[in-house]
Amino acid sequence: MTNEKKREEQAARLEQASPQDNIKEALNEFGSEIAISFSGAEDVLLIEYAQQSGVPFRVFSLDTGRLHPETYQLFAAVEKHYGIRIEYCFPEAIDVEALVHEKGMFSFFEDGHQECCGVRKVAPLRKKLSSLKAWVTGQRKDQSPGTRTAVPVVQIDPAFTGVNSGELIKWNPLTNMSSEDVWMTIRALGVPYNSLHEKGFVSIGCEPCTRPVLPGQHEREGRWWWEEASQKECGLHKGNIEK
Ligand code: SF4
Repeated sequence: MTNEKKREEQAARLEQASPQDNIKEALNEFGSEIAISFSGAEDVLLIEYAQQSGVPFRVFSLDTGRLHPETYQLFAAVEKHYGIRIEYCFPEAIDVEALVHEKGMFSFFEDGHQECCGVRKVAPLRKKLSSLKAWVTGQRKDQSPGTRTAVPVVQIDPAFTGVNSGELIKWNPLTNMSSEDVWMTIRALGVPYNSLHEKGFVSIGCEPCTRPVLPGQHEREGRWWWEEASQKECGLHKGNIEK
């Protein structure tokens, strides 16, 4: 059986399983060679479920240098609440300097977010993932009408590679949860959350590229609002677009 087929069968088996069971299976399979990607938004629930599993886990975050103060405060609150240290990934200073020197601090409003995201997010993520065999993301099917309607529980990452440029497994344990499920759980369990959510923000990314949404607006409309819905991935989950 090919590895791809094996993961498809695993995803089918886990489709009806709880997010807790899914994350436990991921942590048990990969041990210290898997890490949770935490964005500073409601994917904090991944950390809660990992903690509940009783299995040791690692967490990393991409610090683009452009996050909201509230997001940095959440990082600190999460570290304290769970007794963990987040592994922060920073962009290469030389690349940020070159971009800002050539195009200024807000080039993404002029020529799209891909270049800045490439330097500040994708390159540091690629570097981090190259030290892992698997990662865990908070992607959910209901997050983006344009790009996330077919996110499986587990898959071979279509965009990134792992250790020694080998296969990287991507786990999406929250994929079948709705936004309502996530928020009911966060409130019920007293999980720390980003205070921006109290100000109308739903999907949270970098400060210049995120804004609150109005009632009834889709959450991804608050991200890169000057661009087309079908392109609203920062490169972290680029495989969603390519498919
Ligand atoms: S979200 Fe905006 S500020 Fe952040 S890396 Fe992408 S383009 Fe740059």
